[in-house]
Amino acid sequence: PSVGVPGESLVGERRVALVPGVVERLRALGLDVVVEAGAGQRALIPDEAFTEAGASIGDAWSADVVVKVNPPTAEEVGRLAAGTTLIGFLAPLTEPETTERLRAAGVTAFAMESIPRISRAQSMDALSSQANVAGYRAVLLAASESTRFLPMLTTAAGTVKPATALVLGVGVAGLQALATAKRLGARTTGYDVRPEVADQVRSVGAKWLDLGIDATGEGGYARALGADEAAEQERRLGEAIAGFDIVVTTALVPGKPAPRLVSADAVRAMRPGSVVVDLAGATGGNCELSEPGRTVVAHDVTIAAPLNLPASMPEHASELYARNVHALLELLVTDGRLAPDFGDEVLAASCVTRQEEA
Ligand code: NAD
Repeated sequence: PSVGVPGESLVGERRVALVPGVVERLRALGLDVVVEAGAGQRALIPDEAFTEAGASIGDAWSADVVVKVNPPTAEEVGRLAAGTTLIGFLAPLTEPETTERLRAAGVTAFAMESIPRISRAQSMDALSSQANVAGYRAVLLAASESTRFLPMLTTAAGTVKPATALVLGVGVAGLQALATAKRLGARTTGYDVRPEVADQVRSVGAKWLDLGIDATGEGGYARALGADEAAEQERRLGEAIAGFDIVVTTALVPGKPAPRLVSADAVRAMRPGSVVVDLAGATGGNCELSEPGRTVVAHDVTIAAPLNLPASMPEHASELYARNVHALLELLVTDGRLAPDFGDEVLAASCVTRQEEA
């Protein structure tokens, strides 16, 4: 079977679903790889690097398996023949119309974001690999927007105190943000509604902020808070936030709008020159003043809500994503043939639509 790698059409996207090192490993599985001309260009991977790894350049959309990063547009679904297998982030919960189109087109589709967060599937966990990139980058962004040093500085002109950084929502991105801020010398604190995260927060040298709210949901995710709980959380967080130079927010609830954690009043109470980086912009943002996709200044506080941070590190983000795709393909291919076992827990959970048997 053949694996096709089209270029990504999403504005601002620079990632590509496969990289040359992974092409070689797919060929070892007995797969032919067809890359659309220029697909890797914005990730700084020239076509020649793909061909040297054994891929051909051609019509990626007519391959047996098409691998993507972002959900296909309606026009792109139109290029997929019935019986094609599609792998990518497919936004099944937030863009059900995409799944519907794929179903109507007779495509069998696996959504990377629906792969269960179990040990066996860790190598396929693209949410985690990309969240690591986002969490790291968020702190660099906060540091560069900040008017202050992050580390403590001892100089002939005296000592500068280290910055304080608070991370709200400590999943994969939040944990990486805490670790990165720590490496840069900030004093770090983490907060989440899943109390089990406290130990992980401490393991990266951060303090745990305890507001006594437990909203542990299913599958390792948080549940949405009720209205009263949410108001209480926002009020108590507001009191805590005022003391921090940097606040990074990453709080998400699968399939729901992002919870609001940082009110306009909380921003007003921050010291001038402080920075909020909101990673939840795509689902509405965790900060009331966030404008998804933009960086704004309010009450002398900079609020950045970048929409696709992994795309700003296309080389490593693509490499990690490609390894996740490879791990999933290993599960789909047996003896050089496409033979998915839909009874497998990982495939059952990630398959969002399946071509009806004739
Ligand atoms: P996520 O991106 O869905 O959410 C980010 C964080 O926001 C989560 O920690 C969540 O608890 C938190 N959050 C949601 N609502 C909140 C609120 N109102 N206030 C404060 N925080 C709030 O999370 P994720 O990074 O995808 O991680 C989800 C889970 O999956 C975690 O338990 C993680 O450890 C787990 N995980 C497991 C594996 C594995 O075992 N293979 C791999 C990766 C992640």
